Amino acid sequence: MTASAQAAPYYHRSLDFEALCKSYPPAGDYLQTVHAMSRDELRSVQESRFLAQMKRAWQVPFFQHHWGKAGMQPGDVRSLEDLARIPPYTVHDLRASIERAPPFGDHIGIDWETADPMPLLLQTSGGTTGLPRPMIYTPQDRETMNILSSRRLWMQGVRPFDRVQVALTLGLANGGLLGREALWKYSGAIPIMTGSGVVTPTRRQIEILKAWGTNVLVAFPAYLRHMALVARDELGLEPSRLGIKAVLTHLGVDSRERLEELWGAPVYDCYGTNECGAIAADCEQRTGMHVFEDAFAVEIADQESMKPAAPGEKGTVFLTTLFKYAAPVIRFDSGDVSAMLAGNCACGGTHMRMDRIFGRNDGMIKLRGVNVFPEAVGAIVDRHANCNGEYVCLVERKGAADDDEMTVLVEKIAPELEGQGIEQELALRFREALGVKLVVKAVGPGETESYTGLNRTSKIKRVIDRRKSA
Ligand SMILES: [Zn+2]
Repeated sequence: MTASAQAAPYYHRSLDFEALCKSYPPAGDYLQTVHAMSRDELRSVQESRFLAQMKRAWQVPFFQHHWGKAGMQPGDVRSLEDLARIPPYTVHDLRASIERAPPFGDHIGIDWETADPMPLLLQTSGGTTGLPRPMIYTPQDRETMNILSSRRLWMQGVRPFDRVQVALTLGLANGGLLGREALWKYSGAIPIMTGSGVVTPTRRQIEILKAWGTNVLVAFPAYLRHMALVARDELGLEPSRLGIKAVLTHLGVDSRERLEELWGAPVYDCYGTNECGAIAADCEQRTGMHVFEDAFAVEIADQESMKPAAPGEKGTVFLTTLFKYAAPVIRFDSGDVSAMLAGNCACGGTHMRMDRIFGRNDGMIKLRGVNVFPEAVGAIVDRHANCNGEYVCLVERKGAADDDEMTVLVEKIAPELEGQGIEQELALRFREALGVKLVVKAVGPGETESYTGLNRTSKIKRVIDRRKSA
């Protein structure tokens, strides 16, 4: 090892921060510049970044392997037009990459043996079963992601000296800590990192919110709902009078209106992954999430045929980054289902807009030949006036596959409420909306928690498929 290889790499020397902020304007600077750029200008920025990203990706063993198998040559891709010719990959390919080159996989293009030292970070996906998926970030990767998150914060009303309470899991999962970095470095607001209900119990979250004057909340929808109900029912505090001016979340198919009513504040959606950071975010209009197109090329297509979906048509989201160094992402099949929206946005932003995330292809349950998204079940439960929005789906095999049964446990808003009416009404609505008969069982408040892990984690479990262990 050489002497220089032993020297510690200082973060503040690892990057030209000013140049980065010019290339990727953060927060309010973004809204005044890149957000309203003409489509032609935006396309030319994308083109040059895409070619640079391809060049870097060819240095990464994962892509050499994946593209080589498909007979691709470095000269084959000459512009964004050629993106459609690149073979996509999925999370299964990433798992294979980790097996081939443990512990992090050969999609991380940094060789510890030969690379110059640089400050690196590791964070992961949320992870449901098994080890979560790790991702390594170089300073360029991380700071660009912080900047993208800061744009989201600013678009959604966060301003200097705001007190932003982040009730997301802190630790390996990327979301909460990325939020802290963006808030702290690029917004001027003060992050209050209460974490999930395990780190700071819900009652204490509310006490802190009130005592320290939190005015912006960041959390997943189920926990936002839970917090509001604990405030109202256990502490006698009306959540809509607690002074919250904005609620930032990943909405999915949860009801925006219901959360807005509870908190008395606008609720903003965002889409992101641990590999990419914030990809798209609601503007003040809340009519679809603008993709940060100077940092990503996002496609929505049919997962099997790869035919691009027309505006408004649902398809799978395929992600390509334009800024990453350690692990570029080129046509990653995210498994998330959404749609592109047509028309211009009243905010003046030129970047294309995505609809909400309707669910995940791999979260889909096949029940007696019908595809059921658990998120769609949740959206129906959430709209029932006598349910508090909490639910869990239990799938069982009773005999042959034709007899598979799904029981939806839903929580009543109060234990003394009679359950039979709720059960019949919801069963009818499921049948109408999903085209399949489900069994509904109404239980008391808090009774689905042992299945979902609501108070313990941000990665809430909504499906227990007992067919898989049978
Ligand atoms: Zn807009």
